[in-house]
Amino acid sequence: MSFTLAIVGRPNVGKSTLFNRLVGKRLALVDDQPGVTRDLREGAAKLGDLRFTVIDTAGLEEVTDDSLQGRMRRLTERAVDMADICLFMVDARTGITPTDEMFADILRKRSSHVILAANKAEGRAADGGVLDAYSLGLGEPVRLSAEHGEGLDELYHMLRPLS
Ligand code: GDP
Ligand code: MG
Repeated sequence: MSFTLAIVGRPNVGKSTLFNRLVGKRLALVDDQPGVTRDLREGAAKLGDLRFTVIDTAGLEEVTDDSLQGRMRRLTERAVDMADICLFMVDARTGITPTDEMFADILRKRSSHVILAANKAEGRAADGGVLDAYSLGLGEPVRLSAEHGEGLDELYHMLRPLS
């Protein structure tokens, strides 16, 4: 059985970097789904022998006014509802922010399977941020470096039983 994984989290944590790594050039199908394409990018992901659909919540970065929080919330809720599993990404270099806590709240209420990922975790500079992530109450964070391709084996082992 295949599944759909949504990558959620505030802007700039590295969601699209992970999406691109999982999808490579296998960008989806979704150009013919009106309304979804711009804000939610969908792709055919490959990780080891797993094949699944991955959703990237995009379309947030360009919004800079007060509507950002509301827009992030609505878009994230849509992605969560489309997905079987959510990968909630935080930035291990900046640590946990109030916006991360807002996301954690949405996920606790709305998603059954949440994988917490502390990204940008290459090197010791990220150690504090990784520990910080435990405070979100979503279990043990997976240490990831989307940019350097680190932690993907651990992600594989978390996804495999759910597939
Ligand atoms: P998004 O807004 O969550 O989609 O984040 P992006 O994927 O656009 O990445 C935001 C910035 O973080 C970019 O400059 C990336 O190069 C950088 N970035 C992404 N992953 C990593 C990582 O694993 N380590 C570091 N140091 N930087 C990363
Ligand atoms: Mg992005």
